[in-house]
Amino acid sequence: MVEQQLRGRGITDERVLTAMGAVPREAFVPEESRHLAYADGALPIGFDQTISQPLMVAEICQSLLLTGDEKVLEIGTGSGYSAAVLSHLCKEVISIERIPELTNRAEAALRECGVERVTCISGDGSGGWPALAPYGAIAVHAGAPNLSERLVSQLEQGGRLVVPVSADGGEVLTRVTLGDTGQRNVEEIGPCRFVPLIGEAGYEG
Ligand code: SAM
Repeated sequence: MVEQQLRGRGITDERVLTAMGAVPREAFVPEESRHLAYADGALPIGFDQTISQPLMVAEICQSLLLTGDEKVLEIGTGSGYSAAVLSHLCKEVISIERIPELTNRAEAALRECGVERVTCISGDGSGGWPALAPYGAIAVHAGAPNLSERLVSQLEQGGRLVVPVSADGGEVLTRVTLGDTGQRNVEEIGPCRFVPLIGEAGYEG
């Protein structure tokens, strides 16, 4: 997977490539689709949700520019796979999922894989998780209707938010970096496609 799907397709950060190689994706995929665990695409995980394509997980992780010291907020735990990858790249992961059954399953899979430093929370993360802010980085794994100021305000100085934002005819993976004096640097990373971010600061369910 690392050699055929990631390296050579824009993933150049060796820390990210190593983390992607270290997490067994099959442990986060439902039993009936385990034979497809290393296919180059998203897979259903129930409740109309998906475990993201490996390339997309790697792209988000790389775009966060993690050094290893950060507390990272992840919105959209899904299967728990991306939280496991993130745990190799930062100090602590807080991962929010709106569907409680998925939170429970993700927690079990993370435990089974011996993943540490990930806290799963069940709830609406569309407006972030202010109680535990500030974060060194925020990763959103669902498509947002717009760039949320509420999320940016939960970053520490120098922090990065990576989020798929709705645009004409699709979504654009977007990075916002909060500068030392509060200025925002917004960069478009590339086109992407995600399930919708549903909640108070997202789309209606
Ligand atoms: N990164 C995940 C993985 O590796 O399995 C896949 C995430 S899946 C593409 C998007 C997830 O975001 C879904 O599980 C969905 O239920 C969740 N989600 C959507 N809106 C949310 C919200 N407001 N708060 C928290 N999770 C949300």
